[in-house]
Amino acid sequence: MANYKTCMECGNELLADDIAIHRKLVNRNADEFFCIGCLAEKLGSSRERIEELIAYYRATGKCTLFV
Ligand SMILES: [Zn+2]
Repeated sequence: MANYKTCMECGNELLADDIAIHRKLVNRNADEFFCIGCLAEKLGSSRERIEELIAYYRATGKCTLFV
């Protein structure tokens, strides 16, 4: 049994950042996730924008989802 999570839309393996930004933008208590690409599509945004947000939250150090 795989011990990593996969995107519920496309099945890609998820990284910690993918899960963290999903929790931040969609649902903090989620246990199913989208990868960055699918999340961007769902939110009507772009992958670049989501990656910027990840970098921003990590840089601020204020969000406990990003360590
Ligand atoms: Zn996906």
